[in-house]
Amino acid sequence: MAQNTTQQTLQQRLEILADAAKYDASCASSGTAKKNSLGGAKGRGGIGSTEGMGICHAYAPDGRCISLLKVLLTNHCIFDCHYCINRKSSNVRRARFTPQEVADLTINFYKRNYIEGLFLSSGIIKSSNHTMEQLVECARILREEYDFRGYIHLKTIPEADPGLIHQAGLYADRVSINVELPTTSGLARLAPDKDARQIEGALAKTKSRIIEAKDERKRFKHAPRFAPAGQSTQMIVGADNASDADIVVKASTLYGSFGLRRVYYSAFSPIPDASAVLPLKRPPLMREHRLYQSDWLMRFYGYAPDEVAQATDSHGNLPLDIDPKLAWALKFRGQFPVDVNRASKEQLLRVPGLGTTAVGRILNARRHRTLRLDDVARLTQSIAKVRPFLVALDWRPTSLTDRADLRALLTPKQEQLELF
Ligand code: SF4
Repeated sequence: MAQNTTQQTLQQRLEILADAAKYDASCASSGTAKKNSLGGAKGRGGIGSTEGMGICHAYAPDGRCISLLKVLLTNHCIFDCHYCINRKSSNVRRARFTPQEVADLTINFYKRNYIEGLFLSSGIIKSSNHTMEQLVECARILREEYDFRGYIHLKTIPEADPGLIHQAGLYADRVSINVELPTTSGLARLAPDKDARQIEGALAKTKSRIIEAKDERKRFKHAPRFAPAGQSTQMIVGADNASDADIVVKASTLYGSFGLRRVYYSAFSPIPDASAVLPLKRPPLMREHRLYQSDWLMRFYGYAPDEVAQATDSHGNLPLDIDPKLAWALKFRGQFPVDVNRASKEQLLRVPGLGTTAVGRILNARRHRTLRLDDVARLTQSIAKVRPFLVALDWRPTSLTDRADLRALLTPKQEQLELF
């Protein structure tokens, strides 16, 4: 017989609620292979698990990689989002923490050096406002009663009172509001209790508050901080029929309109007793990875969203076997080869195989000498990928750039999670 929530030990509830939180992609470990925190020899995910007992990794504003306790306050929910294992109609094991319990767990883990912060989300219990009050209360206890100075990321609920979201931002380093699905029609179909306008309204208000708080702190040293690490969001990939091109355009609009620090992509995973409106199979994890790469192209490599979309196939999807930068370069070979000794930074950033660090090193090195192919090889990780697209003092690719089988030549034999 299922155990009543009140009979569960703290440990049992932690197992349930840390495992339930793994579907939330809003921290950096989500880009890696997901590991079940209930797995491992001792049921704790094993050594090195990115999610064992709810520990995930995120990047702090200063660029450090930090470990977070990633957990839900509860996986009870009054909403019925089709893609979510915690939805009202799911018959998953349920559990619930009080805000005090999560605050105590955080402090205990923190004192033992297991974590440096907390990522807290929740299913919706009673009402959006009631749930948001509980999330805020947990952050309040940590900050005001325990004087906790570690990192706090709070998932906020767009349907909650704006005053509560404001309070969340006063305690948290980062807040996030999930847009959930790339299209409004997908949201209406798969998350009938949610409203795209309400979600975007909450993102817009949070953006304004972040800007206001920054302004005030410039003028008044002791003005309160508001989500100093900004806001982020998450989109589920593969639950509806949105193409990668749709997702890229949506992400770009979100970055532009709401000043987001990150858009996280979470490959939809089929859940037990899934609703019939969902696909039976999860999309390949590589699709999620290609979307993260396209996100980087827009944020760090100067690609416009429609240029990333040009790298997609006739269905609007990015190729899985090669990265989107290479796919774009193969389609627009007329832009190559570029001269490593004369090309602008923007042109060099388009060369497959050259990352931002390598481009920085090339620009620096060519101030002192004219570069040969060997010099470039020393500054990059994959000269084979670079050669067809680059001219150096002693290298010109001649017909290599135009070869019909260039794609086959450059397709990795065994895909690795490379970053350009
Ligand atoms: S609101 Fe939707 S996505 Fe969030 S926990 Fe409830 S059912 Fe899941």
